Amino acid sequence: MSLCDLTPAYIRAIAPYQPGKPISELQRELGLSQIIKLASNENPLGPSPHSIQAMESLLETLALYPDGNGFDLRSAIGQKFGVELPQIILGNGSNDILEFAARAFLGVGSSAVYSQHAFAVYPLATQVVGAQGIEVPAKEFGCDLEAMVDAIRPDTRVLFIANPNNPTGTFISGPMLRKAFERVPDHVLIVLDEAYTEYLRAEETYDSISWLKDFPNLLVSRTFSKAYGLAGLRVGFGLAAPGVIDLMNRVRAPFNVSTLGLAAAEAALGDGEFLARSVALNRAGMNQIVQGLNALNLPYIPSWGNFVAFKVGEGLAIYQKLLRAGVIVRPIANYGMPEWLRVSIGLASENALFLEALGKIVKQHA
Ligand SMILES: *Cc1c(COP(=O)(O)O)cnc(C)c1O
Repeated sequence: MSLCDLTPAYIRAIAPYQPGKPISELQRELGLSQIIKLASNENPLGPSPHSIQAMESLLETLALYPDGNGFDLRSAIGQKFGVELPQIILGNGSNDILEFAARAFLGVGSSAVYSQHAFAVYPLATQVVGAQGIEVPAKEFGCDLEAMVDAIRPDTRVLFIANPNNPTGTFISGPMLRKAFERVPDHVLIVLDEAYTEYLRAEETYDSISWLKDFPNLLVSRTFSKAYGLAGLRVGFGLAAPGVIDLMNRVRAPFNVSTLGLAAAEAALGDGEFLARSVALNRAGMNQIVQGLNALNLPYIPSWGNFVAFKVGEGLAIYQKLLRAGVIVRPIANYGMPEWLRVSIGLASENALFLEALGKIVKQHA
């Protein structure tokens, strides 16, 4: 028996997360000069100028460890969202928050519920700790929340739900969500992953944070990676009852958020103008891409995020042809959608390049 054979079977069974292809990798492979990446739902505007300024002012301090408690950023989050410091935990991306939830509440002998076509990190975080994943079939690509609650077993400790969901972009209204949460038993932590909540229209916005007082088993997860434009820095946060946060803090690595991440996120939180500009650009870009897909007669799933899934038939073949045209999108076969691709909303010029390349490819295939 080799060392590697002795690792738990549930570790060996893990299929690693497949990230979007980096621009530098495609450059190495194909030697293209002009490449656009619309593969990872990043903010096409880059970071807020306030974030860049905040980081620049701190470069000289980088020999020192960051504030391991993230006091300033947590205070800013507390102020903005009306929560107390003991209800806030910071993550190295919200990916960290999802993993803390799994490590603190799941293990061998317990289970987590999530939807088919849900964010890939839910099954991963579940598997890493030896817990069992219960995948509930989606309904028209969206989470079937009632069925998910029905799927909860006595050994279930976590229910993961993204709203809007990635990669499908589907959305469940606030009232529907809350109604379903009422039925979730106390022994289950509801992990409500709101990575794209900033993109919702005013009339769709719901205040899940105000629900924390009614649901001691609710964890709301947010990120600075999408609308706040800081994916490369890795900062996210979780909000929950102090007891839940306390447990998650025990499995958090010391200094999990960097000095630059803390400062840039705090600055981004204060830059409402940048956030509004990002959301407006996304809305216009979404219209542009959806109209383009309509013109090409390609079905798509109406999306509430900064990306849209569209159906091309042979997903991988079209993906590779787009790569050769210098356009990186995301194949989502590993989400059970081999006939679909996901494109992130970019700048108007990037969206146009994507649609032009896609149009040519689709015509060749027809
Ligand atoms: C992008 C995304 C996240 C955020 O990931 P980070 O680790 O914060 O960069 C979380 N959940 C979903 C559903 C996402 O799509």
